[in-house]
Amino acid sequence: MKHIDLIIVGGGPIGIACGLEAKKKGLDYCIIEKGPITNSLYNYPLNMQFFSSSEKLEIDNIPFISNEAKPKRNEALEYYRRIVTSNDLNINLFEKVNTVLKKQDTFYIKTDKEQYTSSHVIIATGFYDLPNTMNVPGEDLPKVSHYYKDPHFFAKQKLAVIGASNSAVDAALECYRKGAEVTMLVRGPEIGKRVKYWVRPDIINRIEEGSIKVFYNVTIKEILPKKIDIQTPQGEFSIQNDFVLALTGYKPNFEFLQKIGIQLSNDAKLYPQYNEETMETNIKNLYLAGVICGGMDTHIWFIENSRIHAKTILKSITEK
Ligand SMILES: Cc1cc2nc3c(=O)[nH]c(=O)nc-3n(C[C@H](O)[C@H](O)[C@H](O)COP(=O)(O)OP(=O)(O)OC[C@H]3O[C@@H](n4cnc5c(N)ncnc54)[C@H](O)[C@@H]3O)c2cc1C
Repeated sequence: MKHIDLIIVGGGPIGIACGLEAKKKGLDYCIIEKGPITNSLYNYPLNMQFFSSSEKLEIDNIPFISNEAKPKRNEALEYYRRIVTSNDLNINLFEKVNTVLKKQDTFYIKTDKEQYTSSHVIIATGFYDLPNTMNVPGEDLPKVSHYYKDPHFFAKQKLAVIGASNSAVDAALECYRKGAEVTMLVRGPEIGKRVKYWVRPDIINRIEEGSIKVFYNVTIKEILPKKIDIQTPQGEFSIQNDFVLALTGYKPNFEFLQKIGIQLSNDAKLYPQYNEETMETNIKNLYLAGVICGGMDTHIWFIENSRIHAKTILKSITEK
């Protein structure tokens, strides 16, 4: 069994920031990532634009130069990839961590390829792997997807976009502009308040002019091969439909955290327990970093405000 002093689970922006900081401190470390470098960002919509400006996504003050103030997905891939390659960070790609078990002072880490022991572990596994499902009949039909990539596919099709947050609004606008007949199905009474400030007026105007249809206060009853049945305060409707993008958000892998023994809050938020000054969990020498720290509140932590976790954690490890 291989021993590595510090294992970082997850090679997203924050896992990479932790790896970079560990390297600077001269530690024996390895990032283990189940997909390619920054797997989540790689799987974001092709034309996605960040709401943060590029300097706010920078790691360790390494300049992030983008064409516009707010970078696009491909520019972020370029940036984080160059950090990994130029600094020759230790990262194992396409290797999934299945279990982390602590016995006395040693962590035993099992992946789908190897087994390791380590003295410290950082969990930076993000939230993009598990969609929030609606649990309605028909959600598993092949025409339904919880991930959106590209608008071309939906041209000339009747597309229902479920949700009213940034992802749903971006997808609705892009697909409408590439010739899809878009209907938004929104659970609440309006388009999300946190939608990017320069995009919100665009979607509201498209709805008001009738280019994009919308139903508010919707309960989805059933998704069928050629239609969707919904309930609204105005009554029940059947909407003709070819494809569904159910962009209802994502959640961290709580089962993974619980199996490790990390305590979660008893309420619906499932906040993992950690010391805010060190990011150490209830398990000694096991730390949390990045968006995973917010439990079901996945909007609390993002790259901009969690990149600091790397320095906090590595300070705690090296001071011990
Ligand atoms: C559409 C969209 C737009 C966004 N825009 C912004 C923005 O403008 N500004 C901003 O600051 N934030 C933004 N965010 C949020 C931001 O992308 C996330 O907060 C960020 O990715 C968090 O980084 P992370 O490293 O914590 O997690 P992630 O980037 O999700 O990385 C986690 C990594 O862990 C890997 N992993 C998971 N489980 C395992 C396992 N068992 N074994 C090995 N590897 C594993 C995953 O493959 C993944 O690569 C946006 C998010 C979305 C969805």
